[in-house]
Amino acid sequence: MEFQITDEQRAWKQKAQSFAREAVAPHAVELDVEAKFSREIWEQMADFGMTGFIIPKEYGGLGYDTFTSCLMFEGFGAGGAPFGVGTWCHPHLNDCAMGILEHGTEALKQRALPKMASGEWIGAFALSEWAAGSDAAGIRTTARREGDHYVLDGVKAWITNGPICDLALVLAYTDRSKGPRNGMTAFVVEEGFEGFSKGRDLTDERMGERPNQNGELIFEGCRVPIENRLGEEGQGNQVMRDVLFWERAGINGMCVGMMEYLIERSVRYACERETFGKKLHEHQVIVHKLAEMKLATEAARLIIYKCACGKRDDTITTMDTALAKMIMGDNLMKVALEAVQIHGGRGYLREYEVERYIRDAKVVNLAGGSDEILRDMIGMRVVRDTDVEGLGPYLREKW
Ligand SMILES: Cc1cc2nc3c(=O)[nH]c(=O)nc-3n(C[C@H](O)[C@H](O)[C@H](O)COP(=O)(O)OP(=O)(O)OC[C@H]3O[C@@H](n4cnc5c(N)ncnc54)[C@H](O)[C@@H]3O)c2cc1C
Repeated sequence: MEFQITDEQRAWKQKAQSFAREAVAPHAVELDVEAKFSREIWEQMADFGMTGFIIPKEYGGLGYDTFTSCLMFEGFGAGGAPFGVGTWCHPHLNDCAMGILEHGTEALKQRALPKMASGEWIGAFALSEWAAGSDAAGIRTTARREGDHYVLDGVKAWITNGPICDLALVLAYTDRSKGPRNGMTAFVVEEGFEGFSKGRDLTDERMGERPNQNGELIFEGCRVPIENRLGEEGQGNQVMRDVLFWERAGINGMCVGMMEYLIERSVRYACERETFGKKLHEHQVIVHKLAEMKLATEAARLIIYKCACGKRDDTITTMDTALAKMIMGDNLMKVALEAVQIHGGRGYLREYEVERYIRDAKVVNLAGGSDEILRDMIGMRVVRDTDVEGLGPYLREKW
């Protein structure tokens, strides 16, 4: 696998870092405290190219691959942009736009993708419901065919960008008797469709990722034209699998950048603060903390680059995405905890902008595949795929 970073990719990282520093970081505390979406910043992100970074040029995007995108978002995180701003882009681009690109009808692609690339439309990904998160097969939303439309009924919960989205990729059962593998179908529901509304807004109730807007989407006899079905009827599980690859390869880079940012802030503070007649960085214990932070960042970087390159090269596996998501959540949390510790009491204050990273890291362990579910996926594959002499047939049958 090629990990070579080109000059162009390096330049994207630097440009994104400067952009985040100038246009986003100065507003980070306000956006976090007020749990606020800023249309102005979103438009600047769109002008930068972020909202359509991996959308092909023919549909108005910049047409970059996942590794370049990973490095660009790394720069965005390294420049101090909050996670909850990066995730305005994340379901919009990695889930909704990529789902449309890979499975949408040409008419839908022509209508939606240019508007998504330009930031005029904001996308969301709606799988989870109050009764079904990890257990995606337990969703209750249904879709039934009526002539040239489908009629959707159900409530989606926890939807990132939900309160502000113009369109959402929605999973529903078209035939529950066929089970989750063949009974679900994916649709794109657009603002203004009859029977589609926004429900409870969870944004200000969340502990972290606060600039991101989150809430329910409600479908009450919602009429969706056939043109907005992704893939064939019954292929929802495949669509979901495909977008989850984009999703899990997609946002990780930002977390590597956030770890770099925490190291930078911690070093700065360790050079300013004196205790017992010495700068903090002159205490070996503090230097060791910085060493642990660096180790966590570099270990995550390698696995995350492997995942992003795997998606680019079409060699990605479920194991790659699960490992990348797990190490991203675990190591971001580790680095954030050390950053707060180095800052002492001040680290506990919003003003010093390190405590936010603990709150933000937590969501990585919970959403889009929780830690427990990822550990299950990894563990099962380890048992199934490890070559233990004499046990092959038994394991293949079991798993
Ligand atoms: C901030 C935020 C943003 C989100 N954004 C979106 C979004 O944009 N779109 C979307 O569709 N969803 C979104 N989600 C939903 C998210 O994906 C779910 O919260 C997640 O899948 C977990 O589901 P749950 O909350 O129902 O927990 P549950 O599935 O009820 O799980 C509760 C706990 O039990 C563990 N657990 C469950 N089953 C098992 C098992 N078999 N073995 C071991 N442990 C298990 C879980 O890991 C978890 O720790 C978001 C959630 C949050 C918090």
